This record gives sequence, structure tokens and C-alpha cells, in this order.
Amino acid sequence: MANIEEYIPIVGQPIMDDLKLLAEKLKGKVIQHINSTAVGGGIAEILSRMVPLLRELGVDTRWDVIRGGEQFFEVTKKFHNALHGNPEEIMQRDFNIFMETSQKNIEALDIHGDIIFVHDPQPIALIKKKTGNKWIWRCHIDVSNPNQRVWKFLENFITNYDSAVFSAPSFSQRMTIRQFLISPSIDPLSDKNRELPQETIDSVLKKYNIKKDKPIITQISRFDRLKDPVGVIEAYKQVKKYIDCQLILAGGSAADDPESAEVLEEVKARSEHDKDIHILLLPQDDIVVNALQRASSVIVQKSLKEGFGLTVAEALWKSKPVVASNVGGIPLQIKHKYSGLLCHSIDGASFAIKQFLANPEYAKKLGQNGREHISNNFLITRHIREYMLLFLSLYHKEDVVYL
Ligand code: UDP
Repeated sequence: MANIEEYIPIVGQPIMDDLKLLAEKLKGKVIQHINSTAVGGGIAEILSRMVPLLRELGVDTRWDVIRGGEQFFEVTKKFHNALHGNPEEIMQRDFNIFMETSQKNIEALDIHGDIIFVHDPQPIALIKKKTGNKWIWRCHIDVSNPNQRVWKFLENFITNYDSAVFSAPSFSQRMTIRQFLISPSIDPLSDKNRELPQETIDSVLKKYNIKKDKPIITQISRFDRLKDPVGVIEAYKQVKKYIDCQLILAGGSAADDPESAEVLEEVKARSEHDKDIHILLLPQDDIVVNALQRASSVIVQKSLKEGFGLTVAEALWKSKPVVASNVGGIPLQIKHKYSGLLCHSIDGASFAIKQFLANPEYAKKLGQNGREHISNNFLITRHIREYMLLFLSLYHKEDVVYL
């Protein structure tokens, strides 16, 4: 794990001084993060880096994970999809299952922080344990068009929090509590993002039997319908008619995502034994993800809905040309034709991929712009700074907080 001082050459001394100053003001406070999985997905990715860095800065930060069974996670996945605006049939039974597991967690989990930082809907009902401490609800989902039944249900809990945090302005909601807009981030020094020697990249390709004889198009995502892996295969097939290339669809599963096995089967069926399609069920190994991203000619993120899309930031940080859907937090990262290409359909995705593969100079330029954009806006130091300001704001009554 990188030492905090190692960030100075990347972000500059003034930012580091600022972080230390803010950390000093938080001395004595315990921050307790709570989410629903320790591995898999963007939240675990961020917390696994942020918690140790905050500790190193001297902010006493802890991380707990709620427990839930298969039924509970099936329900919360339905909620997740419904909040993203997908049609889902939500029954009273689903709410009952949610509350039963929530009640068990309320009884089992030791709430000891001065600031309790709850991520996404799964642990939201823990607010029932609120006493004198401060509670933040951090929503990582694109809730710009949520299923109203689920949203109203969650609102019963949200109103008891002190503040809510959303990733993008378009996700903000009319609510009685204060809300903050803080976008996620990547850690430039993590195994997922740090520079890799070419031998490491080559050995990962070898391990997965991928040759470097044709361009590589890659999407790395959980096998989730909202990531549209089947759409990526369709786009690849269209590209392949004109340019010989190969496709990597790589993903692991998250402990709180019960749908992935089914989606993986759909993906395998759609790839119809094309030897140039590599479907990889990855272990939790950040170096492997890093190497696959670095080995790629074009990175795709063809999500139908997306909270933020850390994979886009990860690819841009590696100066890769990225083709991604114009959804959720992705347009914060990609300014169309400047730091990547946005698409709205399979046809649009294949057109953009072809454009990059046929124009390496153009691809390179947009990749470089992308890296600069991520460097200026989406690194973990900016994220930590905004969170610390948020923590401090909880102890001030003023209505306006400038971040
Ligand atoms: N990821 C990974 N292995 C995989 C698939 C995804 O390490 O097999 C990582 C990916 O690199 C990113 C995170 O999981 O850091 C996914 O975050 P994102 O915001 O893209 O999507 P989410 O899964 O949270 O919807």
C-alpha cells in the first residue's frame, strides 16, 4: 500500500498540506463506513483504498459490512435496478424480506462511530440505531429517474440522516436533509492503476491465452445486465466485419450480486464459440485488471445505467481511448470527442470503436486528454478532501458549504 507522501509528485504539495490540515481538525472523531460487500463493485474498490489512507492521515476510520442471505440480496438487487429506472415488480414481500434482514443487522452490528457513513440502500435501515452521532447516506446509484415505490420506501429512512451524498448533479433529489455532490475517484497508486512493467502485462495475456496479433477491445465489469455485455458482443461483431480484432469481456462477481451466473451464461451463449472473444471470470486480482486494461487498444463501457463507472476513470488514467455510454456519471468523465467517445446504441458503439481502431493518432490524443481530465478531477486525494470537508460540515449549522 502506497504511503501518503507518495501522492505528492502526482497531486502536488499544496493538496497534501490541505489534507493534513483537514485531518488535524477531525482528530478524535471516529468515522465508521458501512456497506454490503467487502469485495466486488465500485464501493468496495473505493473503501479498500480510502480507509487506509484516511487512517494514515490520522483520521480514525473503520469499515463494517452488513450480513444478508440470498433472498435479501435478490431484493436489494431488484431495488438497485428499480432505482436505476428499470421496470421491476416490487412486492410487499420484498419490503418485508428487506426489513427482516435489516432488523438482524440492527441488532448485530456495533455502531460506535461519531460519524456513520452508510453506502447505498442495503444498510440504509441501520439509521434506526441513531443516537447522538451523525449519519451520512451515500448514494452511488443514478437515481435521476427512480422507481417511486422504492424511493418512497427509502425516503422513510433517508429523512433521519443528517446528510446525503450523490455522485452527480443530475442524481440529486428533493429532500429535507442537506445534500452534497461528490463524485467517486480512483487511486493512481493502487495495484489496479499503478504503472506496470511490460513483462507483467505480457504474462497476464499469456495466462489467459490472449495473443497480441490483433487489436484488443475490452470491457471489464461485473456480469450484470445493466453493463450490457451482450450489447458489447453485438458491437464487436459489427466492428469485426471491417477490422480484424478480438474482444475481452472480463468480470468477477460481487458477494451482493446474485444475478451474475445467469448473465454469464447469456454472454457465453451469445459469443457462439468465436475464438476471438475471451470471456474471463476473474479472481479478485487488481494486477490482472490493470494489465488487461493496459493491453487493450480500446476500452468499452457500454452500460445501460451507471452510477459513476470507475472502470472508465481507470481506463482514461491509463491514457486509453474509451467508448462509453452517455449515462449516469460517465459524461462527467468523458467530454465527447475530447476525452473519449460517448455512444447511445450498439451501432454508435461500433462506429466509435472503428473510428479509434482506424485512427491511432486520434485514439492516442483522446486517451491523453482523458488522463489529464482524470488527473484534474477524479483522483482519490480530491475525494478524501471533499469527504473530510463534509465530515466537518456536519458540526456546523450554516446552510451553505463550499466544497
Ligand atoms: N472490477 C474488478 N474485477 C472485475 C470487474 C470489476 O476489479 O472482474 C472492478 C473495476 O475495475 C472497478 C470496480 O470493480 O474498479 C467496478 O466499479 P464500477 O463503478 O465500474 O461499477 P460497479 O460494479 O460499482 O457497478
